[in-house]
Amino acid sequence: MTPKHAFKTLLFLALSACGGDQEPPVADKGSALDAVTAENIEAHVAYLADDALEGRMAGEPGYDEAAQYVADRFAELGLEPGGEDGWFQQVPLISYRLDEEAAVLIAHRDGKDTELLYKEHFVMRGDQVREENKVRAEVVYVGFGVHAPELGYSDYDGIDVAGKVVALFSNAPATFPHNERAYYSSREVKTEQAIAMGAVGTIILVSKRMEEYYPWERMKLEAGTMPGMAWVTLTGEAANYYPELRGGAIINVDVARELFAGTPISFDEARAATEASTPASTPLGFEVTLGRKTKHEVATSPNVIGVVRGTDPELADEYVVYSAHLDHNGIGAPVDGDAIYNGAYDNAMGSSLLIETARVFAASPPRRSVMLIAVTAEERGLLGSDYFAHYPTVPTASMVANVNLDMPLFLYPVADIIAFGAEHSSLAATVEAAIGEEGFELTPDPMPEETIFIRSDQYSFVRKGVPATFLVPGFRSLDPDVDGQAVVEDHRKNHYHRPSDDLARPVDWDSAVRFARANARIGYAIGNDDARPTWNEGDFFGETFAR
Ligand SMILES: [Zn+2]
Repeated sequence: MTPKHAFKTLLFLALSACGGDQEPPVADKGSALDAVTAENIEAHVAYLADDALEGRMAGEPGYDEAAQYVADRFAELGLEPGGEDGWFQQVPLISYRLDEEAAVLIAHRDGKDTELLYKEHFVMRGDQVREENKVRAEVVYVGFGVHAPELGYSDYDGIDVAGKVVALFSNAPATFPHNERAYYSSREVKTEQAIAMGAVGTIILVSKRMEEYYPWERMKLEAGTMPGMAWVTLTGEAANYYPELRGGAIINVDVARELFAGTPISFDEARAATEASTPASTPLGFEVTLGRKTKHEVATSPNVIGVVRGTDPELADEYVVYSAHLDHNGIGAPVDGDAIYNGAYDNAMGSSLLIETARVFAASPPRRSVMLIAVTAEERGLLGSDYFAHYPTVPTASMVANVNLDMPLFLYPVADIIAFGAEHSSLAATVEAAIGEEGFELTPDPMPEETIFIRSDQYSFVRKGVPATFLVPGFRSLDPDVDGQAVVEDHRKNHYHRPSDDLARPVDWDSAVRFARANARIGYAIGNDDARPTWNEGDFFGETFAR
């Protein structure tokens, strides 16, 4: 026990001593936490990541079976249904696929037309709504495509992109503070910016990081194997659809080098400029034609929602919301003869912990209510959580916090935890205390360049002003012989979003149990506190999105 923990215990004893007849739930909470067992978690993961569920693609039968499994567990645990239709909130979806034969990218330069080859030179996605589009326009290089005058940075200053195709890198300048970098990295913010400037199409360029983590061979292999999706509003429109953009593609590094040759900037200079966070935007002096045809289908896929009713009549109408995405990538490009993307860690594991979190709270509810949501179509663009955030089954103002579970890796005995997003609100202190009770230390985000805070479902809640956090195990192992960071990097490179993220992956189940308990402790702390969590004074996300 560290001195800090000893101090906490003393403080706790002192507080309980003067608590009088209040709260036997402290003892109940302890035994409720004991309801989480490795056997329970393992059984859920084994079911959800089984080949029989075919990778739980939103809109497919395997996902529906997973959803029924979660609903059945919620029912067994005595939760209240929290959906629109019992346990379920059906999310209407448009599922769309590019007609790969009709994918066109032609470069027009120096009076010559060069037809590039799909997969060999470029990849593209379908259009969410239109069956056919085609656009021919000049290409303008715009760095990251970020316009942030308040940070003294703009890729668009002095550059005219009206009616043009913008060529840009993903991510945002490394010199930005982490929060701003995450915000400006989001595809939505960039797309809206490009449209506001009048762009009609996009070409995404491959950064060094993208090359390393997502080599072109893999891009090629996966292109066209999974459908794109959009959720549909109550008035029948595709959400987050940008009709102004009439084409888009990602081009590989060799093609980019050739296309940039002889323009005011070489591709390698452009890439170096973004790495140095220096705007170097310039018209490239050639045109492209982007063309495609898309096939569309309608589908629905449910979020699964259960509620544990709080014990305090004054606070039971407020909710601590836990979320975990239940979908994964279905059946796709085979790797070593295996085409089922089981998503054992991503996110059968998080979904299993969600069920166990429900078990804890059902055994001993806090004062506030707890809502548990298994969301659909995260892998297709945070669609289920975004739908819920737009059409919540309880008022948005009644959601006091979101705790998200996504791909917690227990590849070794875990010593520390990273709590993405906690630093933006009063949740930081809550989280640190809760995880300390399970022997975890809090580690600051070691890879802000990955902008993970905006890349899972908690961001759908943040964008509605709800303070949120998303915990993952850190890189430190309790076993001094294990280099945790190397093990996690190996998983990210070789198993993440691949068929091999399956039941063969090692799991330190004891860490999984402690992690589940730590997450539940956060819910108790939030659920029992007189005050609800607050955004920090002047916090970027709080200021940008809070009510
Ligand atoms: Zn994923």
